[in-house]
Amino acid sequence: MDSLSAFAQAKLDALEAQSLRRRLAPTRRLDGLWVERGGRRLLSFSCNDYLNLSHHPAVKAAAAAAIETYGVGSGASRLVTGDHPLLARLEARLARLKGTEAACIFGSGYLANTGVIPTLAGPSDLVLVDELAHACIWAGAKLSGAQVIGFRHNDVDHLEALLAEHRSAHGRCLVATDGVFSMDGDIAPLDRLSAVCLVHDAWLLSDDAHGIGVLAGGRGSGALFPTARIPLQMGTLSKAIGGYGAYVCASAAVVDLLKTRARTVVYSTAPPPAVIAGALAALDVIETDPDRVARPLANARAFTAALNLPQAQSPIVPVLIGEAAEALAASQALEAQGFLVVAIRPPTVPAGTARLRAAFTADHTPDDIARLAQAVRPFLAKVHP
Ligand SMILES: *Cc1c(COP(=O)(O)O)cnc(C)c1O
Repeated sequence: MDSLSAFAQAKLDALEAQSLRRRLAPTRRLDGLWVERGGRRLLSFSCNDYLNLSHHPAVKAAAAAAIETYGVGSGASRLVTGDHPLLARLEARLARLKGTEAACIFGSGYLANTGVIPTLAGPSDLVLVDELAHACIWAGAKLSGAQVIGFRHNDVDHLEALLAEHRSAHGRCLVATDGVFSMDGDIAPLDRLSAVCLVHDAWLLSDDAHGIGVLAGGRGSGALFPTARIPLQMGTLSKAIGGYGAYVCASAAVVDLLKTRARTVVYSTAPPPAVIAGALAALDVIETDPDRVARPLANARAFTAALNLPQAQSPIVPVLIGEAAEALAASQALEAQGFLVVAIRPPTVPAGTARLRAAFTADHTPDDIARLAQAVRPFLAKVHP
């Protein structure tokens, strides 16, 4: 074997030995709820399509019509020929929803965080990141060349202590957190984070990938905290909005700077017009169907109530198992009963906290939730006897 392939194989073998090797499982989504995998139909609790909008008739029709009219790809970066007018329309809608002056669309959430942070922070600056924040926030922080320090999860006192110790040695300072934590489903204390940031002249970035469309009537986690001032409100179009892409809502000056300097905007092809048309139609649903918007959280709460777990704060409910191999076995046992609940393992979550991660959507029925709770109960008894 050549040295490159030998390297890859040795890495794979080491991961396999720790139950950390990952394998793709070809999956066909049949609608917003059901998937087909390995020739079987499974009820999914692992899609982030919280409002089931990826398969909503109006959203699909808008995307299909845009493909018919404008074609499939966008052709170039926005600064060349990719700046389709639908992008500005979506940016205006998102800015209005978030109460900011402006917004900038990115190709994905990963591209947003790895574009925004290095645009605003550089080698003489400081970036403080919640230790459980999404991998792409950490990637963006490292890419910036700033000094990067993690603060304990949702621990505002720790953040304040770090600011007191390190802030004065740096020029600019950015504090980044998930609004809703993707693997735990809990919510950042955005009001207290924002107060501490104001005192220390630090810029707060909240990643609301899992809050937009499902919390505070669809406005997202920031709107749960009326006193919070969040100058950088990032989120994605790929979860509750049912499509693909991301946004950052901010002041007009910040957005103009992103559009002229963020490398993942300047040097990356613009999102396809059909994806943007779909997102506009999805926002129409979110703004006119409050019952649908409320259901993912209500469904998650029905599940946590059924199992006496702490009340869900978002549509995401983690069921902690511990070791990676056991989490995989639990997931496989649920799959044998017709449920898709994917096991989440390190390095996505800290070692020893492998888990089942259940994501609830608007279209799950009370019966679906009761049956899943029944199927999950034996694993809870094992972990908390
Ligand atoms: C999913 C997710 C992202 C990445 O977004 P993509 O559009 O999938 O690249 C970023 N941040 C958080 C918190 C996420 O959950």
